[in-house]
Amino acid sequence: QTVLGLETSCDETAAAVVRLHADGTSEVLSSVIASQIAAHAPYGGVVPEIAARAHVEGVDGITAEAMSQAGVGYDALTGVAATAGPGLVGGVMVGLSFGKAVALARGLPLIAVNHLEGHAVSARLGAQVDYPFLLLLVSGGHCQLLEVEGVGACRRIGTTIDDAAGEAFDKIAKTLGLPYPGGPALEKLAEGGDAERFVLPRMLLGRKDCDFSFSGLKTAAARLAEGLTSDDERHDLAASVQTAIARQLAERSDRAMAAYAETHGGQELRFVVAGGVAANKSVRALLQQTAAKRGFSFTAPPMAFCTDNAAMIALAGAERLALGQADPLDAPARPRWPLDQAAALANPTHV
Ligand code: ATP
Ligand code: MG
Ligand code: FE
Repeated sequence: QTVLGLETSCDETAAAVVRLHADGTSEVLSSVIASQIAAHAPYGGVVPEIAARAHVEGVDGITAEAMSQAGVGYDALTGVAATAGPGLVGGVMVGLSFGKAVALARGLPLIAVNHLEGHAVSARLGAQVDYPFLLLLVSGGHCQLLEVEGVGACRRIGTTIDDAAGEAFDKIAKTLGLPYPGGPALEKLAEGGDAERFVLPRMLLGRKDCDFSFSGLKTAAARLAEGLTSDDERHDLAASVQTAIARQLAERSDRAMAAYAETHGGQELRFVVAGGVAANKSVRALLQQTAAKRGFSFTAPPMAFCTDNAAMIALAGAERLALGQADPLDAPARPRWPLDQAAALANPTHV
């Protein structure tokens, strides 16, 4: 399969061409990302209307660039994959409509991809990770533990009861006076800081499920930020916050690994982390240690494919095409679209 992927669900306009081989390995032929960070930075967050307009202006050129860098013609493609949700619906509609137009014009199948499915397969872009695996999905809008049996087959075993991990990074970064997007800025500020300098609440510690909570940490960090008196203390608070988030992700993942190992006895145990927060080096390191202790292999996507990109969308599309799946040209844009529909229906407040 050779698939053109399009991603426009948030503040990145992205296009990529990915080739999926019969043995399950893949090759990224091109991956072009136009970030709108500069356009949104003055507002401290993503402005939906600005994002949608920028996608409209950018999607054509970005796609042409991805095709040219891939060095393949449209006749070499076997499908077009576009993010159909969840995300900002104005942006999703731009990429999805563009993808439908390409599919119609070239007589190619369309795959309407769930953005979270893209994150779920993203570790497979850089390394051979076979199904099934236990996935920690930590992005700007989601913080979930999922058992992944294959593309489109996920069972959620834990989710956040308040903020997502990336959202916590972003909000706490803001109280520290850091620019949007806060996660990478906070990681930079944390460099050389003393992570044990400030005591922060350890949320849900000892709770028997695999859920997450970051609101108490956010409140505590905001209070501490007000009392800072030196630059050193700022570094230390950033380091303390980063470590607190990493520890919670590791603690909850540890619980999930223990449960997963019981239900997957005798099988190879694989742990995967994906989403923007997987780019954080402290988070990666602590999760890697935790997985090693539990006898799980550990895989994170290449850095460039942690945050939003179109290569992961192309790969999810290619994997679905390989299973004989495609979508009709009137596939709808879905602002809300949980990966595990059954779990979301059972507990609609914890999507
Ligand atoms: P979703 O995928 O849930 O719809 P999204 O697409 O906005 O949300 P991603 O692009 O996967 O999310 O990730 C962006 C998030 O990752 C932001 O919250 C950002 O602050 C965070 N992030 C990115 N890099 C880092 C880093 N190095 N350390 C911590 N957080 C980071
Ligand atoms: Mg983004
Ligand atoms: Fe994302």
